[in-house]
Amino acid sequence: MLRLPQLRVATPDDLDDALALLRTPGARVVAGGTDILPNLKHRLDRPPLLVSLSRVGALRTIVRDQTAGVLRIGAGVTLTELSEHPDVRAFFPSLADAAGRVASPLIRNMGTIGGNINLDTRCRYVNQTEFWRSAIGGCLKSEGSVCHVVPGGRNCVAAMSSDCVPVLISLDGALLLRTADGQREIPLDAYYQADGTNHTVRGADELTTEIRVPWPGRPRRTGYSKWSVRKSIDFPLVSVALRFDLERDASNAPIVGLRVVVGVLGARPREVTRLDDLLGVPLDDPKVARAVADRVHQQCKPLGNVPYEAPYRREMLRVHTRRAIEALVSAR
Ligand SMILES: Cc1cc2nc3c(=O)[nH]c(=O)nc-3n(C[C@H](O)[C@H](O)[C@H](O)COP(=O)(O)OP(=O)(O)OC[C@H]3O[C@@H](n4cnc5c(N)ncnc54)[C@H](O)[C@@H]3O)c2cc1C
Ligand code: SF4
Repeated sequence: MLRLPQLRVATPDDLDDALALLRTPGARVVAGGTDILPNLKHRLDRPPLLVSLSRVGALRTIVRDQTAGVLRIGAGVTLTELSEHPDVRAFFPSLADAAGRVASPLIRNMGTIGGNINLDTRCRYVNQTEFWRSAIGGCLKSEGSVCHVVPGGRNCVAAMSSDCVPVLISLDGALLLRTADGQREIPLDAYYQADGTNHTVRGADELTTEIRVPWPGRPRRTGYSKWSVRKSIDFPLVSVALRFDLERDASNAPIVGLRVVVGVLGARPREVTRLDDLLGVPLDDPKVARAVADRVHQQCKPLGNVPYEAPYRREMLRVHTRRAIEALVSAR
């Protein structure tokens, strides 16, 4: 059995106290603990202080903000609460679906959306015991200076494996980040960077306090597809979030906007580009599913950072994208 190291844990009741504690050099946040605690057991980090959010009730609300036209989701909302919330299910079904497919019910009861957004990157060579890693001499993200995925590479390409992040990007989500001194809002697609050792632009003393998702302005169909080996408890091995804005609420309506975001490639999600020729084409035209799946396949090249052969994952990405669009067409 793997044991946690000796840890100093603070459990503030109040957001301001949590923010003040986060100024301690090297301090880390723990929300549900379903990601950070296994990583600490694997000795991937040695923080001098953990600041627990478990008692900060202010982070656990979901509010429909009519004035700003957004759904405000507190970072401490659990994945179960998110996936079961009536507004999320009715107006943001792809988000409810993604949250409801993270890991297992027990993990979703503990894990939060703030933790899912700030989930550490993952790699088959680093999410191992310290002993296992010592046998290969570590890597850029642990105790070594090489990358085993990209030999000769100077940059860690560990994968961002969150289920909710590609969906939130496809829905134009933004984050509210707070420190003891102030706050800023940042679009989620600007939050991640291509460095698996430091994959967000979050400052050390910044806390994600809220996720803001704009209310849908027009009819649309959204979906999320995740391929994993075990359906009951597994990280995605490839994933794709889809959003089609439509001229009217029907599957034969012309597409007036679309976002396609792919997860589990590298340290940040990848937005698929060059889709403009599909604007004006009815969603149920078979060319749409084929064209999007082909472009996903052309633009996204999985690496050997997570289990399963990269070329196979690439094919699965194409198949899952096409099937997900076909399911959106036949829905309702
Ligand atoms: C067996 C297993 C299977 C899993 N399968 C999946 C899966 O299928 N899909 C998936 O997406 N995830 C999966 N996970 C990962 C994890 O359970 C979820 O991502 C969960 O949402 C993490 O939330 P948490 O509150 O437990 O995060 P924590 O473990 O508490 O924190 C995760 C990271 O986020 C930081 N953090 C937490 N809250 C904040 C905040 N408010 N502001 C800033 N930083 C913060 C922490 O410092 C830490 O670095 C799995 C985990 C396990 C153990
Ligand atoms: S991608 Fe390379 S550097 Fe990053 S964790 Fe994996 S092996 Fe280590």
